[in-house]
Amino acid sequence: MSPYQNLEEYNISITNEVKDRFSKIIDEIGEDVNRDGLQKTPERAAKAMLFLTQGYRQDAAEILKSAMFKEDYDDMVIIKDIEVYSLCEHHMLPFFGKAHIAYIPNGHIVGLSKIPRVVDVFARRLQVQERLTHDILECLNDTLKPKGVAVVIEASHMCMMMRGVQKQNSVTTTSGFRGQFEKIETRNEFLKLISSDLS
Ligand SMILES: [Zn+2]
Repeated sequence: MSPYQNLEEYNISITNEVKDRFSKIIDEIGEDVNRDGLQKTPERAAKAMLFLTQGYRQDAAEILKSAMFKEDYDDMVIIKDIEVYSLCEHHMLPFFGKAHIAYIPNGHIVGLSKIPRVVDVFARRLQVQERLTHDILECLNDTLKPKGVAVVIEASHMCMMMRGVQKQNSVTTTSGFRGQFEKIETRNEFLKLISSDLS
Protein backbone atom coordinates (compact mmCIF):
# COMPACT_ATOMS: atom_id res chain seq x y z
CA MET A 1 0.00 0.00 0.00
CA SER A 2 1.37 3.42 -0.88
CA PRO A 3 1.95 5.60 2.18
CA TYR A 4 -1.03 7.89 1.66
CA GLN A 5 -3.51 5.82 -0.30
CA ASN A 6 -7.02 6.55 0.88
CA LEU A 7 -8.52 3.68 2.78
CA GLU A 8 -11.18 2.33 0.49
CA GLU A 9 -10.78 -1.32 1.22
CA TYR A 10 -11.68 -2.16 4.75
CA ASN A 11 -10.18 -4.93 6.81
CA ILE A 12 -13.20 -7.21 7.13
CA SER A 13 -12.60 -8.52 10.62
CA ILE A 14 -11.92 -5.06 12.09
CA THR A 15 -14.93 -3.59 10.29
CA ASN A 16 -17.13 -6.37 11.66
CA GLU A 17 -15.84 -5.87 15.21
CA VAL A 18 -16.51 -2.11 15.08
CA LYS A 19 -19.88 -2.70 13.41
CA ASP A 20 -20.99 -5.03 16.22
CA ARG A 21 -20.02 -2.44 18.80
CA PHE A 22 -21.92 0.33 17.02
CA SER A 23 -24.90 -2.00 16.94
CA LYS A 24 -24.66 -2.39 20.71
CA ILE A 25 -24.33 1.39 21.20
CA ILE A 26 -27.42 2.07 19.09
CA ASP A 27 -29.33 -0.47 21.17
CA GLU A 28 -28.02 0.96 24.46
CA ILE A 29 -29.15 4.51 23.63
CA GLY A 30 -32.68 3.19 23.22
CA GLU A 31 -32.99 2.78 19.48
CA ASP A 32 -34.24 -0.18 17.50
CA VAL A 33 -31.24 -1.31 15.48
CA ASN A 34 -33.53 -3.46 13.34
CA ARG A 35 -35.79 -0.70 12.07
CA ASP A 36 -35.50 0.07 8.37
CA GLY A 37 -33.43 3.25 8.47
CA LEU A 38 -30.88 1.81 10.88
CA GLN A 39 -30.25 -1.61 9.41
CA LYS A 40 -27.04 -0.69 7.63
CA THR A 41 -26.06 2.07 10.04
CA PRO A 42 -23.63 0.04 12.18
CA GLU A 43 -21.67 -0.95 9.08
CA ARG A 44 -21.70 2.58 7.65
CA ALA A 45 -20.64 4.03 11.01
CA ALA A 46 -17.83 1.47 11.29
CA LYS A 47 -16.53 2.33 7.82
CA ALA A 48 -16.79 6.05 8.52
CA MET A 49 -14.86 5.65 11.77
CA LEU A 50 -12.15 3.61 10.07
CA PHE A 51 -11.92 6.17 7.26
CA LEU A 52 -11.64 9.04 9.74
CA THR A 53 -8.83 7.28 11.60
CA GLN A 54 -6.86 6.01 8.59
CA GLY A 55 -4.01 8.33 9.57
CA TYR A 56 -2.78 5.67 12.01
CA ARG A 57 -1.95 3.51 9.01
CA GLN A 58 -0.19 6.21 6.96
CA ASP A 59 3.29 7.70 7.08
CA ALA A 60 3.47 11.48 6.68
CA ALA A 61 7.27 11.60 6.38
CA GLU A 62 7.16 9.13 3.47
CA ILE A 63 4.58 11.31 1.71
CA LEU A 64 6.94 14.30 1.90
CA LYS A 65 9.98 12.26 0.86
CA SER A 66 8.12 11.02 -2.22
CA ALA A 67 8.02 14.57 -3.63
CA MET A 68 11.08 16.48 -2.40
CA PHE A 69 13.12 18.31 -5.02
CA LYS A 70 16.46 20.09 -4.89
CA GLU A 71 15.84 23.79 -5.43
CA ASP A 72 17.66 27.01 -4.54
CA TYR A 73 14.46 28.97 -3.83
CA ASP A 74 14.70 30.25 -0.29
CA ASP A 75 11.78 32.61 0.17
CA MET A 76 8.77 31.83 2.28
CA VAL A 77 6.33 29.29 0.79
CA ILE A 78 2.81 29.64 2.19
CA ILE A 79 -0.14 27.32 1.77
CA LYS A 80 -3.24 28.98 3.17
CA ASP A 81 -6.73 27.70 3.95
CA ILE A 82 -6.02 23.97 4.03
CA GLU A 83 -9.22 22.26 5.15
CA VAL A 84 -8.85 20.34 8.39
CA TYR A 85 -11.28 17.68 9.62
CA SER A 86 -10.34 15.78 12.73
CA LEU A 87 -11.85 14.03 15.75
CA CYS A 88 -11.27 15.28 19.28
CA GLU A 89 -9.83 12.54 21.43
CA HIS A 90 -11.95 13.47 24.43
CA HIS A 91 -15.39 13.04 22.87
CA MET A 92 -14.64 11.52 19.46
CA LEU A 93 -16.61 14.39 17.94
CA PRO A 94 -15.38 16.39 14.94
CA PHE A 95 -13.36 19.53 15.04
CA PHE A 96 -12.75 21.31 11.77
CA GLY A 97 -11.34 24.47 10.30
CA LYS A 98 -8.33 25.67 8.39
CA ALA A 99 -4.59 25.28 8.56
CA HIS A 100 -2.10 27.83 7.28
CA ILE A 101 1.39 26.50 6.78
CA ALA A 102 4.63 28.14 5.70
CA TYR A 103 8.19 27.02 5.32
CA ILE A 104 11.45 28.54 4.15
CA PRO A 105 13.29 26.00 1.98
CA ASN A 106 16.83 24.99 2.75
CA GLY A 107 17.91 23.36 -0.52
CA HIS A 108 14.72 21.35 -0.98
CA ILE A 109 11.13 22.17 -1.83
CA VAL A 110 8.22 19.76 -1.63
CA GLY A 111 5.32 19.23 -4.03
CA LEU A 112 2.61 21.58 -2.78
CA SER A 113 -0.11 18.95 -2.77
CA LYS A 114 1.85 16.94 -0.22
CA ILE A 115 1.39 19.46 2.57
CA PRO A 116 -2.42 19.09 2.75
CA ARG A 117 -1.85 15.33 2.67
CA VAL A 118 0.42 15.58 5.71
CA VAL A 119 -2.34 17.55 7.45
CA ASP A 120 -4.81 14.74 6.65
CA VAL A 121 -2.49 12.00 7.96
CA PHE A 122 -2.35 13.65 11.38
CA ALA A 123 -5.95 14.92 11.34
CA ARG A 124 -7.37 11.47 10.64
CA ARG A 125 -6.57 10.25 14.11
CA LEU A 126 -7.97 11.00 17.55
CA GLN A 127 -6.42 14.36 18.26
CA VAL A 128 -6.31 17.53 20.26
CA GLN A 129 -5.78 20.66 18.20
CA GLU A 130 -2.56 21.48 20.02
CA ARG A 131 -0.97 18.11 19.22
CA LEU A 132 -2.23 18.18 15.64
CA THR A 133 -0.45 21.52 15.18
CA HIS A 134 2.70 20.14 16.76
CA ASP A 135 2.65 16.86 14.78
CA ILE A 136 2.45 18.74 11.46
CA LEU A 137 5.14 21.21 12.52
CA GLU A 138 7.59 18.54 13.67
CA CYS A 139 7.03 16.32 10.64
CA LEU A 140 7.77 19.19 8.24
CA ASN A 141 10.73 20.31 10.32
CA ASP A 142 12.30 16.85 10.64
CA THR A 143 11.69 15.72 7.07
CA LEU A 144 12.18 18.86 4.95
CA LYS A 145 14.77 20.33 7.32
CA PRO A 146 13.79 23.84 6.23
CA LYS A 147 15.23 27.13 7.48
CA GLY A 148 11.92 27.64 9.22
CA VAL A 149 8.39 26.30 9.45
CA ALA A 150 5.14 27.76 10.76
CA VAL A 151 1.75 26.17 11.36
CA VAL A 152 -1.44 27.96 12.39
CA ILE A 153 -4.73 26.10 12.82
CA GLU A 154 -8.11 27.71 13.43
CA ALA A 155 -10.85 25.26 14.30
CA SER A 156 -14.35 24.90 15.70
CA HIS A 157 -15.03 21.98 18.01
CA MET A 158 -18.36 20.18 17.84
CA CYS A 159 -17.91 19.01 21.43
CA MET A 160 -18.07 22.68 22.45
CA MET A 161 -20.73 23.69 19.93
CA MET A 162 -23.24 20.85 20.43
CA ARG A 163 -22.81 20.14 24.10
CA GLY A 164 -21.05 21.51 27.16
CA VAL A 165 -20.65 25.26 27.07
CA GLN A 166 -22.42 25.59 23.68
CA LYS A 167 -20.20 28.43 22.55
CA GLN A 168 -21.33 28.05 18.97
CA ASN A 169 -19.17 30.67 17.36
CA SER A 170 -15.92 30.22 19.19
CA VAL A 171 -12.85 29.37 17.17
CA THR A 172 -9.71 27.97 18.73
CA THR A 173 -6.40 29.07 17.25
CA THR A 174 -3.16 27.17 17.79
CA SER A 175 0.24 27.87 16.31
CA GLY A 176 3.77 26.62 16.26
CA PHE A 177 6.99 28.09 14.88
CA ARG A 178 10.46 26.71 14.26
CA GLY A 179 13.72 28.12 12.91
CA GLN A 180 13.48 31.52 11.26
CA PHE A 181 9.84 31.86 12.26
CA GLU A 182 10.98 32.13 15.85
CA LYS A 183 12.23 35.59 14.83
CA ILE A 184 9.49 38.13 15.38
CA GLU A 185 9.89 39.86 11.96
CA THR A 186 9.58 36.64 9.98
CA ARG A 187 6.68 35.44 12.10
CA ASN A 188 4.89 38.78 11.66
CA GLU A 189 5.38 38.68 7.91
CA PHE A 190 3.76 35.24 7.82
CA LEU A 191 0.90 36.27 10.10
CA LYS A 192 0.29 39.37 7.98
CA LEU A 193 0.17 37.29 4.81
CA ILE A 194 -2.45 34.95 6.24
CA SER A 195 -4.25 37.64 8.25
CA SER A 196 -7.14 38.05 5.84
CA ASP A 197 -8.30 34.73 7.29
CA LEU A 198 -7.66 35.54 10.91
CA SER A 199 -10.13 37.50 12.94
ZN1 LIG B 1 -13.90 17.24 22.68
